[in-house]
Amino acid sequence: MKITSVAAALLEPWPWVLIKVRTDEGLVGIGEAYHGAGVHNIAVDPRLTERALIGQDPRNVDKLFRDMKNSMSASGFYQGAVMSAISGIEMALWDITGQALGTPIWQLLGGTFRDQIRVYNDCNEGDNADDPLSWAQKAKQVEARGFDALKFDIDPRPTQRDRYNRTIRNTDIAFFVDVVTAIREALDPDTDLAIDAHWRYAPADILKVAYAFEKLDLLWLEDPIPPENIAALREVKAATRTPICTGENLYTRHGFRELVEQQAADIISPDLAKAGGLAEGKRIADLADTYYIPLAPHNICGPIGTMASCHVCAATPNFHVLEFHHLDNELWNSLTVERDLIQKGRIDLPRGPGLGVQLDEDVARAATKEDVGGFYA
Ligand code: MG
Repeated sequence: MKITSVAAALLEPWPWVLIKVRTDEGLVGIGEAYHGAGVHNIAVDPRLTERALIGQDPRNVDKLFRDMKNSMSASGFYQGAVMSAISGIEMALWDITGQALGTPIWQLLGGTFRDQIRVYNDCNEGDNADDPLSWAQKAKQVEARGFDALKFDIDPRPTQRDRYNRTIRNTDIAFFVDVVTAIREALDPDTDLAIDAHWRYAPADILKVAYAFEKLDLLWLEDPIPPENIAALREVKAATRTPICTGENLYTRHGFRELVEQQAADIISPDLAKAGGLAEGKRIADLADTYYIPLAPHNICGPIGTMASCHVCAATPNFHVLEFHHLDNELWNSLTVERDLIQKGRIDLPRGPGLGVQLDEDVARAATKEDVGGFYA
Protein backbone atom coordinates (compact mmCIF):
# COMPACT_ATOMS: atom_id res chain seq x y z
CA MET A 1 0.00 0.00 0.00
CA LYS A 2 1.26 3.47 -0.86
CA ILE A 3 0.22 7.00 0.09
CA THR A 4 -1.02 8.90 -2.96
CA SER A 5 -2.05 12.27 -1.54
CA VAL A 6 -2.43 14.42 1.57
CA ALA A 7 -5.15 17.07 1.81
CA ALA A 8 -6.43 19.38 4.52
CA ALA A 9 -9.58 21.36 5.25
CA LEU A 10 -9.83 24.43 7.48
CA LEU A 11 -13.31 24.69 8.99
CA GLU A 12 -15.28 27.62 10.39
CA PRO A 13 -16.45 29.15 12.67
CA TRP A 14 -14.14 27.01 14.80
CA PRO A 15 -10.83 26.73 12.92
CA TRP A 16 -10.62 22.95 13.15
CA VAL A 17 -8.04 21.48 10.75
CA LEU A 18 -8.95 18.13 9.24
CA ILE A 19 -6.36 15.99 7.45
CA LYS A 20 -7.06 13.37 4.82
CA VAL A 21 -4.46 10.83 3.62
CA ARG A 22 -5.35 8.76 0.57
CA THR A 23 -3.77 5.50 -0.62
CA ASP A 24 -3.50 3.53 -3.85
CA GLU A 25 -5.68 0.79 -2.33
CA GLY A 26 -8.60 3.13 -1.73
CA LEU A 27 -8.22 3.36 2.03
CA VAL A 28 -8.54 6.93 3.31
CA GLY A 29 -7.35 8.05 6.73
CA ILE A 30 -8.70 11.05 8.69
CA GLY A 31 -6.92 13.05 11.35
CA GLU A 32 -7.18 16.44 13.04
CA ALA A 33 -4.38 18.89 13.73
CA TYR A 34 -4.51 21.50 16.48
CA HIS A 35 -5.64 24.71 14.83
CA GLY A 36 -3.33 27.62 14.25
CA ALA A 37 -2.30 29.99 11.52
CA GLY A 38 -1.42 28.07 8.39
CA VAL A 39 -1.48 24.56 9.88
CA HIS A 40 -3.66 23.33 7.00
CA ASN A 41 -1.13 24.70 4.51
CA ILE A 42 1.82 23.15 6.34
CA ALA A 43 0.09 19.76 6.22
CA VAL A 44 0.18 19.78 2.42
CA ASP A 45 3.61 21.42 2.06
CA PRO A 46 5.67 19.38 -0.44
CA ARG A 47 8.53 19.22 2.05
CA LEU A 48 6.25 17.07 4.20
CA THR A 49 4.18 15.29 1.59
CA GLU A 50 6.50 14.65 -1.35
CA ARG A 51 9.67 14.29 0.68
CA ALA A 52 8.30 12.11 3.49
CA LEU A 53 4.90 10.64 2.64
CA ILE A 54 3.93 10.21 -1.02
CA GLY A 55 4.76 6.71 -2.28
CA GLN A 56 5.42 5.40 1.25
CA ASP A 57 3.56 2.63 3.06
CA PRO A 58 1.24 4.46 5.50
CA ARG A 59 1.38 1.56 7.96
CA ASN A 60 4.98 2.37 8.91
CA VAL A 61 3.56 5.05 11.16
CA ASP A 62 6.53 5.53 13.45
CA LYS A 63 9.05 5.66 10.62
CA LEU A 64 6.92 8.20 8.77
CA PHE A 65 6.62 10.27 11.95
CA ARG A 66 10.43 10.40 12.05
CA ASP A 67 10.64 11.12 8.33
CA MET A 68 8.15 13.97 8.64
CA LYS A 69 10.18 15.45 11.51
CA ASN A 70 13.36 15.20 9.44
CA SER A 71 11.93 16.32 6.14
CA MET A 72 12.16 20.06 6.70
CA SER A 73 15.47 20.23 8.53
CA ALA A 74 18.25 17.88 9.56
CA SER A 75 17.59 18.64 13.22
CA GLY A 76 14.12 17.10 13.10
CA PHE A 77 13.22 19.43 15.95
CA TYR A 78 9.85 21.05 15.49
CA GLN A 79 7.30 22.60 17.73
CA GLY A 80 4.34 24.87 17.06
CA ALA A 81 2.37 24.72 13.83
CA VAL A 82 4.69 22.23 12.11
CA MET A 83 4.31 19.66 14.89
CA SER A 84 0.54 20.26 14.91
CA ALA A 85 0.38 19.42 11.19
CA ILE A 86 2.53 16.32 11.72
CA SER A 87 0.27 15.26 14.61
CA GLY A 88 -2.86 15.39 12.45
CA ILE A 89 -1.18 13.43 9.66
CA GLU A 90 0.04 10.82 12.15
CA MET A 91 -3.54 10.26 13.33
CA ALA A 92 -4.65 9.71 9.73
CA LEU A 93 -1.86 7.13 9.25
CA TRP A 94 -3.13 5.22 12.30
CA ASP A 95 -6.66 5.40 10.88
CA ILE A 96 -5.45 3.79 7.63
CA THR A 97 -3.44 1.15 9.49
CA GLY A 98 -6.38 0.20 11.69
CA GLN A 99 -8.71 -0.01 8.70
CA ALA A 100 -6.18 -2.15 6.80
CA LEU A 101 -5.95 -4.58 9.72
CA GLY A 102 -9.64 -4.40 10.64
CA THR A 103 -8.90 -3.32 14.19
CA PRO A 104 -9.33 -0.18 16.28
CA ILE A 105 -6.29 2.03 16.85
CA TRP A 106 -6.36 1.42 20.62
CA GLN A 107 -5.75 -2.26 19.93
CA LEU A 108 -2.61 -1.36 18.00
CA LEU A 109 -1.43 0.81 20.91
CA GLY A 110 -1.47 -2.18 23.26
CA GLY A 111 -5.14 -2.74 23.96
CA THR A 112 -7.58 -0.98 26.26
CA PHE A 113 -7.75 -0.45 30.00
CA ARG A 114 -11.37 0.78 29.88
CA ASP A 115 -14.60 0.68 27.89
CA GLN A 116 -15.46 4.34 28.33
CA ILE A 117 -13.43 7.53 28.26
CA ARG A 118 -14.31 10.03 30.96
CA VAL A 119 -14.50 13.61 29.70
CA TYR A 120 -14.64 16.86 31.62
CA ASN A 121 -16.55 19.85 30.36
CA ASP A 122 -14.71 23.15 30.09
CA CYS A 123 -17.23 25.76 31.26
CA ASN A 124 -17.50 29.49 30.83
CA GLU A 125 -18.63 31.61 33.73
CA GLY A 126 -22.35 32.03 34.34
CA ASP A 127 -24.53 34.77 32.88
CA ASN A 128 -23.25 37.25 35.45
CA ALA A 129 -19.47 36.93 35.70
CA ASP A 130 -19.37 39.11 38.83
CA ASP A 131 -21.71 36.88 40.82
CA PRO A 132 -20.25 33.67 42.31
CA LEU A 133 -23.73 32.17 42.48
CA SER A 134 -24.08 32.59 38.71
CA TRP A 135 -20.93 30.48 38.23
CA ALA A 136 -22.31 27.90 40.64
CA GLN A 137 -25.59 27.82 38.74
CA LYS A 138 -23.72 27.17 35.49
CA ALA A 139 -21.82 24.34 37.18
CA LYS A 140 -25.05 22.75 38.38
CA GLN A 141 -26.54 22.94 34.88
CA VAL A 142 -23.57 21.14 33.34
CA GLU A 143 -23.45 18.57 36.14
CA ALA A 144 -27.15 17.87 35.57
CA ARG A 145 -26.27 16.84 32.00
CA GLY A 146 -24.19 13.99 33.35
CA PHE A 147 -20.69 15.42 33.61
CA ASP A 148 -18.90 14.45 36.81
CA ALA A 149 -15.85 16.59 36.04
CA LEU A 150 -15.87 20.31 35.17
CA LYS A 151 -13.39 23.10 34.64
CA PHE A 152 -13.66 26.87 35.04
CA ASP A 153 -11.15 29.66 34.34
CA ILE A 154 -9.84 32.28 36.75
CA ASP A 155 -8.45 34.78 34.25
CA PRO A 156 -7.37 38.24 35.40
CA ARG A 157 -10.40 40.39 36.16
CA PRO A 158 -10.86 43.75 34.44
CA THR A 159 -10.13 45.32 37.82
CA GLN A 160 -6.62 43.94 37.90
CA ARG A 161 -4.43 46.99 38.01
CA ASP A 162 -1.32 45.77 36.23
CA ARG A 163 -1.37 42.66 34.08
CA TYR A 164 2.34 42.77 33.33
CA ASN A 165 3.74 42.04 36.77
CA ARG A 166 1.41 39.03 37.22
CA THR A 167 0.30 40.09 40.70
CA ILE A 168 -3.25 39.67 41.99
CA ARG A 169 -5.06 42.18 44.18
CA ASN A 170 -6.41 40.92 47.48
CA THR A 171 -9.97 41.67 46.37
CA ASP A 172 -9.44 39.55 43.26
CA ILE A 173 -7.99 36.69 45.31
CA ALA A 174 -11.06 36.90 47.53
CA PHE A 175 -13.29 36.86 44.44
CA PHE A 176 -11.58 33.78 43.00
CA VAL A 177 -11.97 32.01 46.33
CA ASP A 178 -15.64 33.03 46.57
CA VAL A 179 -16.35 31.83 43.03
CA VAL A 180 -14.60 28.48 43.34
CA THR A 181 -16.05 27.86 46.80
CA ALA A 182 -19.55 28.58 45.48
CA ILE A 183 -19.05 26.17 42.58
CA ARG A 184 -17.56 23.49 44.80
CA GLU A 185 -20.38 23.74 47.33
CA ALA A 186 -23.03 23.54 44.60
CA LEU A 187 -21.62 20.33 43.12
CA ASP A 188 -21.89 16.76 44.30
CA PRO A 189 -18.81 15.89 46.40
CA ASP A 190 -17.82 13.29 43.80
CA THR A 191 -18.02 15.72 40.89
CA ASP A 192 -14.48 16.82 40.18
CA LEU A 193 -13.67 20.50 39.72
CA ALA A 194 -10.58 21.82 37.93
CA ILE A 195 -9.55 25.47 37.73
CA ASP A 196 -7.42 26.98 34.93
CA ALA A 197 -5.25 30.05 35.62
CA HIS A 198 -3.96 30.32 32.02
CA TRP A 199 -0.31 31.08 32.95
CA ARG A 200 -1.21 34.57 34.14
CA TYR A 201 0.17 34.84 37.66
CA ALA A 202 3.34 35.19 39.71
CA PRO A 203 4.21 32.21 41.95
CA ALA A 204 3.68 33.98 45.29
CA ASP A 205 0.34 35.40 44.17
CA ILE A 206 -1.20 32.27 42.70
CA LEU A 207 0.01 30.33 45.74
CA LYS A 208 -2.21 32.51 47.94
CA VAL A 209 -5.07 31.29 45.77
CA ALA A 210 -3.85 27.70 45.74
CA TYR A 211 -3.59 27.67 49.56
CA ALA A 212 -7.16 28.92 49.86
CA PHE A 213 -8.27 26.23 47.40
CA GLU A 214 -6.69 23.41 49.44
CA LYS A 215 -9.77 22.74 51.52
CA LEU A 216 -11.87 22.52 48.34
CA ASP A 217 -10.08 19.38 47.11
CA LEU A 218 -9.85 20.45 43.49
CA LEU A 219 -9.11 18.03 40.68
CA TRP A 220 -6.28 20.41 39.80
CA LEU A 221 -5.14 24.00 39.38
CA GLU A 222 -3.95 24.33 35.78
CA ASP A 223 -1.12 26.49 34.48
CA PRO A 224 -0.72 28.62 37.62
CA ILE A 225 2.37 30.48 36.37
CA PRO A 226 3.93 31.25 32.96
CA PRO A 227 5.10 28.16 31.08
CA GLU A 228 8.77 28.78 30.45
CA ASN A 229 10.30 27.95 33.83
CA ILE A 230 10.01 24.41 35.13
CA ALA A 231 12.04 25.13 38.29
CA ALA A 232 9.54 27.83 39.24
CA LEU A 233 6.63 25.47 38.60
CA ARG A 234 8.28 22.79 40.69
CA GLU A 235 8.41 25.29 43.58
CA VAL A 236 4.72 26.06 43.20
CA LYS A 237 3.80 22.40 43.05
CA ALA A 238 5.87 21.58 46.12
CA ALA A 239 4.34 24.44 48.10
CA THR A 240 0.67 23.51 47.90
CA ARG A 241 -1.61 20.55 48.42
CA THR A 242 -3.74 21.74 45.49
CA PRO A 243 -2.68 19.48 42.59
CA ILE A 244 -0.95 21.28 39.71
CA CYS A 245 -1.58 20.41 36.05
CA THR A 246 0.26 21.65 32.96
CA GLY A 247 1.49 20.60 29.53
CA GLU A 248 -0.89 21.77 26.78
CA ASN A 249 1.84 23.80 25.06
CA LEU A 250 4.60 21.19 25.17
CA TYR A 251 5.60 19.19 22.11
CA THR A 252 6.78 15.56 21.90
CA ARG A 253 8.24 13.45 24.67
CA HIS A 254 11.31 15.69 24.62
CA GLY A 255 9.18 18.68 25.54
CA PHE A 256 7.79 16.77 28.54
CA ARG A 257 11.05 15.21 29.72
CA GLU A 258 12.22 17.93 32.10
CA LEU A 259 8.71 18.64 33.43
CA VAL A 260 8.23 14.96 34.27
CA GLU A 261 11.75 14.27 35.53
CA GLN A 262 11.58 17.33 37.79
CA GLN A 263 8.14 16.20 38.98
CA ALA A 264 7.01 19.78 38.52
CA ALA A 265 3.35 18.84 37.98
CA ASP A 266 0.93 16.41 39.64
CA ILE A 267 -0.96 15.82 36.37
CA ILE A 268 0.17 16.45 32.78
CA SER A 269 -2.09 17.63 29.94
CA PRO A 270 -0.53 17.05 26.51
CA ASP A 271 -2.64 18.06 23.52
CA LEU A 272 -2.33 15.05 21.22
CA ALA A 273 -3.30 17.04 18.14
CA LYS A 274 -0.20 19.17 18.57
CA ALA A 275 2.24 17.22 20.76
CA GLY A 276 3.03 14.62 18.09
CA GLY A 277 -0.07 12.49 17.60
CA LEU A 278 -1.11 9.17 19.05
CA ALA A 279 2.08 7.09 19.38
CA GLU A 280 3.91 10.12 20.76
CA GLY A 281 1.00 10.71 23.14
CA LYS A 282 1.35 7.14 24.38
CA ARG A 283 5.08 7.69 24.89
CA ILE A 284 4.43 10.87 26.87
CA ALA A 285 1.89 8.97 28.98
CA ASP A 286 4.36 6.17 29.62
CA LEU A 287 7.09 8.65 30.56
CA ALA A 288 4.69 10.27 33.06
CA ASP A 289 3.71 6.86 34.43
CA THR A 290 7.29 6.19 35.49
CA TYR A 291 6.73 9.01 38.02
CA TYR A 292 3.12 7.92 38.77
CA ILE A 293 1.80 11.09 37.12
CA PRO A 294 -1.71 10.82 35.60
CA LEU A 295 -2.54 12.02 32.09
CA ALA A 296 -5.41 14.42 31.41
CA PRO A 297 -5.12 15.39 27.73
CA HIS A 298 -5.90 18.96 26.73
CA ASN A 299 -8.39 18.93 23.86
CA ILE A 300 -10.28 21.64 22.02
CA CYS A 301 -10.59 19.61 18.81
CA GLY A 302 -13.68 18.72 16.90
CA PRO A 303 -14.94 15.14 17.10
CA ILE A 304 -12.19 13.69 14.86
CA GLY A 305 -9.33 14.85 17.09
CA THR A 306 -11.34 14.06 20.21
CA MET A 307 -12.07 10.49 19.11
CA ALA A 308 -8.45 10.02 18.04
CA SER A 309 -7.37 11.10 21.53
CA CYS A 310 -9.74 8.50 23.00
CA HIS A 311 -7.62 5.70 21.54
CA VAL A 312 -4.60 6.88 23.54
CA CYS A 313 -6.76 7.45 26.64
CA ALA A 314 -7.98 3.85 26.31
CA ALA A 315 -4.52 2.34 25.96
CA THR A 316 -2.98 4.36 28.82
CA PRO A 317 -3.11 3.01 32.39
CA ASN A 318 -2.50 6.43 33.93
CA PHE A 319 -5.27 8.15 31.94
CA HIS A 320 -7.35 10.42 34.17
CA VAL A 321 -9.88 12.51 32.21
CA LEU A 322 -10.11 14.05 28.70
CA GLU A 323 -11.05 17.66 28.01
CA PHE A 324 -14.17 18.65 26.04
CA HIS A 325 -14.81 22.20 24.92
CA HIS A 326 -17.88 22.21 22.75
CA LEU A 327 -21.04 21.57 24.75
CA ASP A 328 -24.04 22.81 22.72
CA ASN A 329 -21.89 23.27 19.60
CA GLU A 330 -24.12 21.55 17.04
CA LEU A 331 -21.32 21.43 14.45
CA TRP A 332 -19.18 19.36 16.86
CA ASN A 333 -22.05 16.92 17.22
CA SER A 334 -22.90 16.66 13.52
CA LEU A 335 -19.42 16.45 12.03
CA THR A 336 -19.31 12.67 12.38
CA VAL A 337 -21.83 10.21 10.94
CA GLU A 338 -22.11 8.82 14.48
CA ARG A 339 -23.88 11.45 16.60
CA ASP A 340 -24.08 12.11 20.35
CA LEU A 341 -20.65 10.62 20.98
CA ILE A 342 -20.60 12.04 24.51
CA GLN A 343 -23.26 10.58 26.80
CA LYS A 344 -23.38 11.57 30.46
CA GLY A 345 -19.78 12.73 30.46
CA ARG A 346 -18.46 9.56 28.85
CA ILE A 347 -17.42 8.46 25.36
CA ASP A 348 -17.94 4.80 24.53
CA LEU A 349 -14.74 3.35 23.21
CA PRO A 350 -14.96 3.10 19.41
CA ARG A 351 -14.97 -0.55 18.35
CA GLY A 352 -14.75 -0.21 14.57
CA PRO A 353 -11.54 -0.39 12.56
CA GLY A 354 -9.15 2.55 12.63
CA LEU A 355 -10.51 5.72 14.18
CA GLY A 356 -13.92 4.04 14.53
CA VAL A 357 -15.97 7.07 13.49
CA GLN A 358 -16.64 8.55 10.08
CA LEU A 359 -16.48 12.15 9.00
CA ASP A 360 -19.83 13.42 7.70
CA GLU A 361 -18.47 14.81 4.43
CA ASP A 362 -21.53 16.91 3.62
CA VAL A 363 -21.53 18.62 7.00
CA ALA A 364 -17.76 19.14 6.85
CA ARG A 365 -17.93 20.54 3.32
CA ALA A 366 -20.61 23.04 4.31
CA ALA A 367 -18.39 24.24 7.19
CA THR A 368 -15.16 24.36 5.18
CA LYS A 369 -13.47 27.72 4.77
CA GLU A 370 -10.48 26.44 2.82
CA ASP A 371 -9.72 23.14 1.08
CA VAL A 372 -6.07 22.55 0.23
CA GLY A 373 -4.82 19.54 -1.69
CA GLY A 374 -8.28 18.32 -2.72
CA PHE A 375 -9.86 17.30 0.60
CA TYR A 376 -13.24 16.74 -1.08
CA ALA A 377 -11.84 15.62 -4.45
MG1 MG B 1 -5.75 25.18 29.84
